[in-house]
Amino acid sequence: MMAKDGLLNFINGKWSHSLAGAHLGVPNPATTEEMCLVPLSPGAEVNLAADAAAQAAKEWSRVPATERIQYLFRMKRVLEENLDELSRLCTNECGKTYAESKGELQRAIENVEVACGIPMLMQGYNNEDIARGIDEHMFRQPVGVAAVITPFNFPSMIAFWFMPYALATGNCSIIKPSEKTPMTMTRIFELFEGIGLPPGVLQMVHGGKEAVDAILDHPKIRAISSVGSSATARYIYSRAAANGKRAQCQGGAKNPVVIMPDADMEMATRIVADAAFGCAGQRCLALSQVITVESARKPFTDCITQTASTRKVGYGLDKGIEMGPVIRGESKARIEGLIAQAETEGAKVLVEGRGKRVAGFENGFFVFPTVLDGPPQTSSVAHTEIFGPVLSLTHANTLAEAIELVNQRSYGNMACIFTSSGMAARKFRQEASAGNIGINIGVAAPMAFFPFSGWNESFFGILHGQGWHAVEFFTQTKVVIERWPSEWTRRF
Ligand code: NAD
Repeated sequence: MMAKDGLLNFINGKWSHSLAGAHLGVPNPATTEEMCLVPLSPGAEVNLAADAAAQAAKEWSRVPATERIQYLFRMKRVLEENLDELSRLCTNECGKTYAESKGELQRAIENVEVACGIPMLMQGYNNEDIARGIDEHMFRQPVGVAAVITPFNFPSMIAFWFMPYALATGNCSIIKPSEKTPMTMTRIFELFEGIGLPPGVLQMVHGGKEAVDAILDHPKIRAISSVGSSATARYIYSRAAANGKRAQCQGGAKNPVVIMPDADMEMATRIVADAAFGCAGQRCLALSQVITVESARKPFTDCITQTASTRKVGYGLDKGIEMGPVIRGESKARIEGLIAQAETEGAKVLVEGRGKRVAGFENGFFVFPTVLDGPPQTSSVAHTEIFGPVLSLTHANTLAEAIELVNQRSYGNMACIFTSSGMAARKFRQEASAGNIGINIGVAAPMAFFPFSGWNESFFGILHGQGWHAVEFFTQTKVVIERWPSEWTRRF
């Protein structure tokens, strides 16, 4: 909900003006028009939400799971009924194309659907007669209050990797959206008012670092799910752990793809281009480094340069647009600076994406698709997450050499291979150091019933979002052992 002086928070079932002293403007990245102000809420507001959630959790945890999921069925319906409006809003605040926004929301809905299976997923174990007259059971109970901290690049989807599971398993959830893209989630909260959740069960506090620190320090918030850069993930994980909380913190990425000589070049090029330039390269599963093997070098380079230079860039709600702007002017400057650094470190620009404008959106934060030959693996930029539409090409003589290059990265979100050889694919999936592997797939995003993995500097924690991991993360096990001597039971 939006007031003239900024977006409102949703605390204890009510919309409230933030006590924030400072607000940030939220521009449309294509038009640069300021769409709203977002409050940088102080810690005191997080504390109000945490106390309300802890109070609400006492009741909510006792609501049978079969009843809790009825709210999720309503969530699914509300999201589906408002898909078009939410997708437009997402495009306007985030810059991605309408189709990308719609795809993001569909993945949010998919998580709600999977969380509807919680009554079965939460089942415990029973063992009768582990010794004479003694039974043992394991139950799952909610952890209490769980918080979700999201990045700018998926304003709707990422909160749904966690929140539906948290609610379905009996926890209360507090969402802190990115201060760069707070509008889609605010609208979702307005729509969710109609589903009738009890006050305090689902809340939203806008803000930045101060709000996050208050979340990390509040004793009643027991579980933290965060997604952002690796520096943020490391910080959140450390501070949450120091405060005795469980945390799952997803970080940044630099995702490589290996192109084998036996790959279908037409298919590989089309899919790699979508994975590199989709969402303007601003996704944690964007492909940013191609490693061609042996004779794949020339055909792939020819095809990708052709595809990159003809991609249609513009405002995401316009017809036929394949790529939108990046999120802010500072991001554009940063990306262009890294391209310049890559050149200094030995890369050659094969497709130039800097200094181009979109007619009618001359001030928009656009960087066009960029293809670099190099830089060498020894350069610093080869290991830096650019988070923009920049694809660099490297070459290897063998698959083993390519896998070595893949495993030199500090990140480990995703690694892909394009090949028609089952043996090459098998070697790659076994040896590549990454949590998500794509074989002839460019964005290896797991379906909601699989955990969204991530290794090395791309993830801090043990249990990931989605699927079984979400059930484990949002519940704590209680093991009960009981004795019923046979001489007692014989009385009945
Ligand atoms: P970010 O790290 O700047 O911010 C993420 C969240 O953390 C925001 O809500 C922000 O308010 C908060 N935050 C930022 N700095 C903080 C600090 N110092 N202390 C406490 N909280 C802080 O990330 P971003 O720019 O919004 O998103 C882009 C990053 O997210 C990229 O690195 C991308 O790879 C990563 N990402 C990862 C995944 C994944 O699944 N691994 C998914 C999406 C995005």
